[in-house]
Amino acid sequence: MTTGQCLCAAVRFSLTVEPRFFYRCHCSLCRKQTGVGHNLATLVNARDFRWEAGQDSISSWRKPSGYRSDFCAHCGSTVPNPLRESPYVWIPLGLLDDDLSMECVGDFCVDDAMSWDAHRSANSHHCAVESLEFLLKELRVNAD
Ligand SMILES: [Zn+2]
Ligand SMILES: [Zn+2]
Repeated sequence: MTTGQCLCAAVRFSLTVEPRFFYRCHCSLCRKQTGVGHNLATLVNARDFRWEAGQDSISSWRKPSGYRSDFCAHCGSTVPNPLRESPYVWIPLGLLDDDLSMECVGDFCVDDAMSWDAHRSANSHHCAVESLEFLLKELRVNAD
């Protein structure tokens, strides 16, 4: 079992799978959300995800466009959030407790990257993730 928690440990969750792949996004929203050059995240099937504690401590900020940032109201850590109208959960990698062996499948919005954020995988995309289906395939997350 894979576990994760926020900075203050109020929000905790577990996964019945070990994610093997992740992606990076360099867009301005992900920069502001993380406070660094890009996010690092993966998706899991909702049936493989479970909240262990602290769901009532989660605040959610959403843009009309659909961009969503859920965070712990006590410590401010970004926390997992369920994807709109789909049975998948977005997982920020930094919350995972164990050092899993993982591989980056791609960098998105590289045109928006700051010049000091030069780290790239072999697979770079100029634009945002084109569709959920595309990202799920890249991350080898099985659809139902
Ligand atoms: Zn917290
Ligand atoms: Zn982004």
